[in-house]
Amino acid sequence: MIYRNPGSYFRTLVTGCDTKVTLANGRQVTAINFDNAATTPPLSPVIKAISRFAPWYASVHRGRGYKSILTSELYDRGREVVRHFVKADPGDVIIFTKNTTESINILAYALAAGGKEQVVLSTDMEHLANDMPWRDKFTVDYVGLTKSGRLSLEDLETKLRTYRGKVSLVAVTGASNVTGYINPIPKIARLAHKYGARIFVDGAQWVPHAPVNMKPQHSPEHIDFLAFSAHKMYAPFGTGVLIGPKKCFEQAVPVYQGGGAVGLVSQQHIEWDDPPAKYEAGTPNMMGVLALITAIEALSRLSITEIHNYEQALIEYAIDSLAEIPGVTLYSCQERREERVSLISFSLEGLHHSQVAELLSQEAGIAIRSGLFCAHPYVEKLLNLNEAEIKYYQTHDDKRIPGLARISFGIYNNFEEIDIFYTLLAHAAKHRN
Ligand code: PLP
Repeated sequence: MIYRNPGSYFRTLVTGCDTKVTLANGRQVTAINFDNAATTPPLSPVIKAISRFAPWYASVHRGRGYKSILTSELYDRGREVVRHFVKADPGDVIIFTKNTTESINILAYALAAGGKEQVVLSTDMEHLANDMPWRDKFTVDYVGLTKSGRLSLEDLETKLRTYRGKVSLVAVTGASNVTGYINPIPKIARLAHKYGARIFVDGAQWVPHAPVNMKPQHSPEHIDFLAFSAHKMYAPFGTGVLIGPKKCFEQAVPVYQGGGAVGLVSQQHIEWDDPPAKYEAGTPNMMGVLALITAIEALSRLSITEIHNYEQALIEYAIDSLAEIPGVTLYSCQERREERVSLISFSLEGLHHSQVAELLSQEAGIAIRSGLFCAHPYVEKLLNLNEAEIKYYQTHDDKRIPGLARISFGIYNNFEEIDIFYTLLAHAAKHRN
């Protein structure tokens, strides 16, 4: 450990950690945010960088004025900061988008030229963002799970073999937003490449919490495409990243079209710019990119490995605490350290997941997430719902939707907050009817 108490040091960098909220009973408490998998609060260096740059910014790639040149240089430097952070290949382009969801949609359009002849292997553990965009453009199949809810590499290989060279892409999450499991991406990349497929990794939950290395394009473990969101890594909303080999973006016509993406245009002819510009039509979100690179630089200074280790300690402590509470079921088991990010889903017998979330919020100002987490098939599988049960909840409004409660930590959370959470939940478990 570089810092003797990383939690308290990290806390000084994150805005809003000491926000007071007034509960329904009039009591004032410090809000506790255990919903970092949804969105993280911005770092104070990010806010400072934005306000420091505000007097200087002007339109990107559109002017010869001093401020415009400065802004454009900063924006383009952002690509190199991102490249270095995830160790992307020099032959990869870094495209700035709105978020992970938009990145995946853009990628699906860019790769769709081969049509439904091509197979995309998504998986049973994906966020809808890494499932729905593939459906109408490709033949999609899903890699199944093991008994413990992990991705089955055996099923992946079977499917790759069965489709006999037709799988063009394996689209898999780096880390699950439901169980926190980190997938063995190097192994998956090797398998995909062995059968002539490329690999796309949804990095939304992975990149902010563990070291990511895309590896050189010639490596069998190379990640061909990667996407992630700034708002899950301590920068504000509105910026996402899509990375992939430049050549893969050269042929397709981009989904968003207009100024900034083109060279000369007549009413009869369009000359597309080279990627990444071709995929960034419209005035770019320069402040969003500044926020993202400032966050990346701050996280790198702390060291992502250090952050991962600290968050690992938090999640192990939380798992141990939750396991002590009668009636709690954990939906991801405690396994090897390097295989999970800092989130866990659970249920409490006798209380609906929405009641658990409400109770924690109302009684102690603790924010958690409850429901299906935009990963409906995965949660349904973890809950062992059968087809009739799924159909029933999808078609009836008269009962409450099944799901889970989820806590997810950031670099600023601490053990004391977990104790407050534990005490309240243990009390609720004791007194539930
Ligand atoms: N993928 C995963 C694993 C996620 O957890 C999320 C959001 O929670 C997304 C994709 C979508 O991210 P965004 O909403 O930033 O597009």
